[in-house]
Amino acid sequence: MLISIVLIIIAFYTLNLALSTFSSDVTLATLYFTVAVLSFGFVVLSVFRVRRGYALANPAPLKVMSIVKCPQCSFKQIKNFAVGDFVFKKLGMCTQCGVASLSITGIYYDGPTRR
Ligand SMILES: [Zn+2]
Repeated sequence: MLISIVLIIIAFYTLNLALSTFSSDVTLATLYFTVAVLSFGFVVLSVFRVRRGYALANPAPLKVMSIVKCPQCSFKQIKNFAVGDFVFKKLGMCTQCGVASLSITGIYYDGPTRR
């Protein structure tokens, strides 16, 4: 970002030089003007690149699911993954049979495959 600020200063400076030398030396003014335009162009491009970088750094939240199963009955539930979930984690008594304790049997990513 520091380069962008420096380039903006250069762009304004050369633009000012171009305007002041336009009456005396048109060729030199054109050269200054070109430098100014190129500097502005570079800044715009770098800003776009930074924005795309932010977009890549913050993708859509991952859809991770946890499979909860009861070892006694056929009870099976798929819930959203929560931080702290792991395979074989005990989740308390089964709500269906009340005999065995529910546990997480699998964790998987559910969503469109990217890249
Ligand atoms: Zn059960």
